[in-house]
Amino acid sequence: MQFALLILDIMMMSTGERKMKIKSIFAREILDSRGNPTVEVDVSIETQDSRRETVRGVAPSGASTGAYEAFELRDGEKRYLGKGVQNAVENVNKKIAKALVGKNLKDQNDADQKMLKLDGTENKSKLGANAIVATSMAIAKAFAAEQEEQYFEFLGGKHLPQPMFNILNGGKHAGGKLAIQEFMIMPYGNSFAETLQMASEIYHILGKRLSEKYGANARNVGDEGGFAPPIEKCEDAITAIAKAIEEAGYVKETKLAMDVAASSFYDGVKRTYNLDGLEISKDMLLDYYIDLVERYPAITSIEDPFEENDFDSFSILTDEVERKAMIIGDDLLVTNPKRIQKALDTKACNALLLKVNQIGTVSEAIEAADLVRKNNWKIAVSHRSGETEDTFIADFATGIESEFIKTGAPARGERTAKYNQLLRIEERIK
Ligand code: PEP
Ligand code: MG
Repeated sequence: MQFALLILDIMMMSTGERKMKIKSIFAREILDSRGNPTVEVDVSIETQDSRRETVRGVAPSGASTGAYEAFELRDGEKRYLGKGVQNAVENVNKKIAKALVGKNLKDQNDADQKMLKLDGTENKSKLGANAIVATSMAIAKAFAAEQEEQYFEFLGGKHLPQPMFNILNGGKHAGGKLAIQEFMIMPYGNSFAETLQMASEIYHILGKRLSEKYGANARNVGDEGGFAPPIEKCEDAITAIAKAIEEAGYVKETKLAMDVAASSFYDGVKRTYNLDGLEISKDMLLDYYIDLVERYPAITSIEDPFEENDFDSFSILTDEVERKAMIIGDDLLVTNPKRIQKALDTKACNALLLKVNQIGTVSEAIEAADLVRKNNWKIAVSHRSGETEDTFIADFATGIESEFIKTGAPARGERTAKYNQLLRIEERIK
């Protein structure tokens, strides 16, 4: 038996196949940035040269979640107002650990497939996508640790993504009347460090000017660290940001991006959108974007411009503005290769917002990235509005060489954790 395993070891090495054996998997319930429970998983491995490494994965959580996302398992009991994740934690500690500990894992796909088989549902509702994704992310880091590499190196990435900094929050991420969820700046510096510095300067100038105009409360921030002033109209947000960019002296170098998150202000019964205090049809919304992009050439990216089922309107807008702005699908695609294929077939957008926890495993997220790459779409790797101190997405985005990353404002610990990791990655690449 021992001999047979040894032969297998040698065969795998000679065919270039890696394998890894997990010593232990342990999950616990911790809090995310909104103060809600989430799943954290520690994975320990013993490497082939007998090093012991322990790595960690943590599940983030959305607020403006897409209807087609993988299922986040919550306990629904009294503790934590129903939001506890003890069942998901137990699924990791009992079921997932039993399926993975001590097994020879060939690669990420092998590990993820074992979990998918164990779950057996289309949307990961049996074990919980939060249980699966935290384990999958920890295993991804374990494969890198096995090779004594950082995760971005293990994936082979050499280029950092351009960040989209969300500096003004609306929609479900803030408590005000501003319908559009995220107003982002993309300063293009000569390095990531310079880009971060430019974003920070614009952010602080914006905060100062907002508090002068609307009072000190305007500096309060939303879930992703962007300011949440009492602005009601989308264009007032854009002009406030444009002025801050001008004052900072970065007009030439800075582009703008928006995540409309249109499903969150869509009335499915009336089939209207509640934008800027008006009830408007999808056709009016389409005209609104065409006009906006025309008048603000700095806007080069619009995410989720229509509700998550309206592939047709996405297609019309993409066709109209593709030379000026990219159209990103988030709730529309939910990082799911099947929905991405539909969007490819209908030319509904030309960029993917990639959120690992929307699909639930790292290997499926990579499959989604590969699919859009083949079709010349751009990729923006994204955080969730409920985040943790985990920096996985900084490595992941660099590793797959996504063009963009969006991970909130250049402020608040759970957001700066990712930007600070990108600073370290840049240093290491150099
Ligand atoms: C988003 O919509 O892109 C986003 C990051 O928000 P959430 O995590 O709430 O879905
Ligand atoms: Mg979005």
